[in-house]
Amino acid sequence: MKVGCDQLIDILNHIGGKEVQGIDENWILNYAPSTGKVISRIPKSSYQDVENAVKAAKNASEGWAKLSKDERADWLDKIADCLESRFDEIASLESLDTGKPIRISRAVDATRSVTNFRFYAQQIRELKIEHFRMENATNHVIKRPVGVGALITPWNLPLYLLSWKVAPAIGMGNTVICKPSELTPMTANLLMQVIKDAGLPDGVVNLIHGTGIEAGSPLVSHPDVRFVSFTGGTETGSVVGRDAAASFKKISLELGGKNATIVLDDCDIDRHIDSIVRASFLNQGQVCLCGSRILIQEAIYEIFKTKFVDSVNRLKIGDPSDENTDLGSLISPQHLEKVTSYVNLAIEEGGTILTGGISPEIGAEFEGGNWITPTVVDGLSPDSRCSTEEIFGPLVTLHPFKNDEDAIRISNGTRYGLAGSIWTNDSSRGENIAKQMDTGMVWINTWLHRDLRVPFGGVKDSGLGREGGKWSLGFYSEATNICIMDE
Ligand code: NDP
Repeated sequence: MKVGCDQLIDILNHIGGKEVQGIDENWILNYAPSTGKVISRIPKSSYQDVENAVKAAKNASEGWAKLSKDERADWLDKIADCLESRFDEIASLESLDTGKPIRISRAVDATRSVTNFRFYAQQIRELKIEHFRMENATNHVIKRPVGVGALITPWNLPLYLLSWKVAPAIGMGNTVICKPSELTPMTANLLMQVIKDAGLPDGVVNLIHGTGIEAGSPLVSHPDVRFVSFTGGTETGSVVGRDAAASFKKISLELGGKNATIVLDDCDIDRHIDSIVRASFLNQGQVCLCGSRILIQEAIYEIFKTKFVDSVNRLKIGDPSDENTDLGSLISPQHLEKVTSYVNLAIEEGGTILTGGISPEIGAEFEGGNWITPTVVDGLSPDSRCSTEEIFGPLVTLHPFKNDEDAIRISNGTRYGLAGSIWTNDSSRGENIAKQMDTGMVWINTWLHRDLRVPFGGVKDSGLGREGGKWSLGFYSEATNICIMDE
């Protein structure tokens, strides 16, 4: 076994305020994606660990729900302060654990994790009881905690997505069990340390590590778990949705995407090219919102293609700890194999690889890592498998289109409907197209420009429900109407 640190770190479960090993005492090794070296190991939790975590969350439930919303908001701010004091550590751990560049883990992951807690603290403080007056009575709509919840997250934005769930869930008075991806446990563990240091009551937030099948699935099916917030792949989401539905749990599913980037003939290419490249390859294309299909209006197809490939070729791929690195490694050997298989499929389907699709030369230290250069494919039909299936890696396909209707038709031609972006000098033309796209979110002349108050989520096979702002507060609570007749 190659060990990436001086010492192999044992990451434990956190149940009822205690760090505990898995009951079966089995472990899963955790590898640094950029080197392939082991960096830590986590418990391979099973049903009994889930049972203990749910019990701890249930025990903490009553006391936590009794706090006022302002008291809970204060706790969120306290967690934000403690997270902020470990900002650099979060960025380094996330970069090590995911293989993403440190610059990105600082600007995106560490920053948003702190912001998520602060944002929801504010939202919860501002939450008002709604009143509806009738002729002879008044309705008061109060939001009560749902109870014990399961928060299940993927590997691409580990703490960013976990904190996006934990903050509103506990802020609304619930207690939770987190199940992060077995591939990226490091910052979830740090969050639990922070929560302990902040002094949050034991059992409000619990964490179990392990596989989706052995730890995630029993958690979703557990009768005492009343809601499930899941972010991950569409196939897994379908299983999670089915398991949760059996006992009528509240469920939020944030799933996969195959997002279109639409470049209209009036687009100022020079102005927007860097943003379009970013939308294609941020986090090695492993962001659910990345635009993996670029639809370009015929008149500017060739010029756009040349400028796009030039910009992609300038991206610096390599050591994630180097401040100048733009692209790091993929998450795992299995994921590299998947992305590589799509490069091969693109050729089989008649596409031309304009750039990328190979293993970069970046030095002996990274030989065991999961590396592939950013890949641009031309000449595929928009109906091809490469152009319609989620690859979730650094591979984009380019497609020409004739007019706005054609762009909308191609954009809507997949099972997914998460997000999209439109690049144009005419924002009303862009808005008209946006309204006809079957997606939950569309950006015009920008991408991943997030206001945390707005709804986040997808249509079709990209998910169920919305998170963000008041939508999260609604999901993580039960609305109860109290109708009082006038005296
Ligand atoms: P997966 O669906 O493989 O896994 C997500 C989480 O679910 C992991 O913690 C996994 O555990 C767990 N899990 C797996 N099976 C089950 C099960 N039967 N019951 C309960 N939990 C289970 O997704 P990835 O981690 O591979 O993440 C990539 C996917 O996430 C992409 O499709 C991407 O589009 C999507 N995503 C969507 C976002 C959105 O907001 N819409 C945002 C970010 C990513 P483990 O892996 O440890 O076995």
